[in-house]
Amino acid sequence: MDFILATNNMKKLAEMQRILSPLGINVKTAEMLGINLPEVEETGSTFEENAQLKAVSACKTANMPAIADDSGLCVDYLNGAPGIYSARFSGEHGNDEKNNDLLLEKLSGVPEEKRTAHYVCAICCVFPSGNEIIVRGECRGSIGFERDGTEGFGYDPLFIVNGKSFGRYSADEKDKISHRGNALRKLKKELEKYI
Ligand code: IMP
Repeated sequence: MDFILATNNMKKLAEMQRILSPLGINVKTAEMLGINLPEVEETGSTFEENAQLKAVSACKTANMPAIADDSGLCVDYLNGAPGIYSARFSGEHGNDEKNNDLLLEKLSGVPEEKRTAHYVCAICCVFPSGNEIIVRGECRGSIGFERDGTEGFGYDPLFIVNGKSFGRYSADEKDKISHRGNALRKLKKELEKYI
């Protein structure tokens, strides 16, 4: 079964392919399918709502099963911020460097025990029949005092799990415990009921 992925992020595509291909599911980007997806405004107030907005729109446009995700970092000391605004925390969409600088600034002087955080990933799958699956994965960790490592993306150089920053995890190591890996494994279980 083919699914359209409501993003052109090749890292997300590869991760989804690795976990879902054993089910006979092929995830493809709009570009790979030659389809133009309209830009969807992320107006939801939760990760789940934003993932659903993107998946419903892609499913309608492509008239095929669609998958979309929405993810972010929730820092306890900041009352869950940046949360759904993680990509544009510093104002500029997707500027990882500025986002990490701002996070360090906001946590300046905050001791280690108060730097707890978790990543969240919501994934929504929508079928042309209208059936929907929504799953959520989380990964708990804490925010370091400085960047460490060059693997991953986004906040990974600052996100510490088991004494090591995600910036030092290989893709395989990260998949096993990450919010996205956890959400994808839940999605796989749900999809097994449909296939
Ligand atoms: P989106 O799900 O593509 O909207 O991404 C939201 C933002 O959350 C990204 O731009 C990153 O800043 C952050 N984020 C989500 N997942 C991860 C991750 O696995 N590592 C690092 N940052 C992440």
